[in-house]
Amino acid sequence: MSHKYAGGCEHVHTHADNDPIDVHTCHCSVCKRVTGQEDTHVVFFKHGDLKVDKPDKLKRQPFNNQNPNGPLELCTCATCGTPTMLDDKQGRIRAIVPNLMGYDPEKMPATYHAFFDAAAGAPAPDDGRPVYEGLRPDFAWPAPA
Ligand SMILES: [Zn+2]
Ligand SMILES: [Zn+2]
Repeated sequence: MSHKYAGGCEHVHTHADNDPIDVHTCHCSVCKRVTGQEDTHVVFFKHGDLKVDKPDKLKRQPFNNQNPNGPLELCTCATCGTPTMLDDKQGRIRAIVPNLMGYDPEKMPATYHAFFDAAAGAPAPDDGRPVYEGLRPDFAWPAPA
């Protein structure tokens, strides 16, 4: 019962045994709004690689409440409200925010900065990791599951 990556709350557990396909520090406005953090450590797994033990115990809501028909749903525990994962309605990825979703952030360090908007006025990150206006240019969305 030991998995490479494991998280969740007391009621709903998630895990993955394969490595994530993308790990970035997200600067987008939706993450800011949802997490309340200035930037957000976001980890993408292939959809089939992130497993949930009790999917029926999750509450689903649009990740971006200003774009309710967007593909990403924020799944929270129906019992305690803890955010559990982002699920892609198109079945391409599942994403986690390690520090909010019960994972060890140290095990999955971000390799770059995504969705950084220089026009918004925040100082550009200067930790040496590449900074992009979107996801990294070579990121390819997996085929829908
Ligand atoms: Zn974001
Ligand atoms: Zn819970």
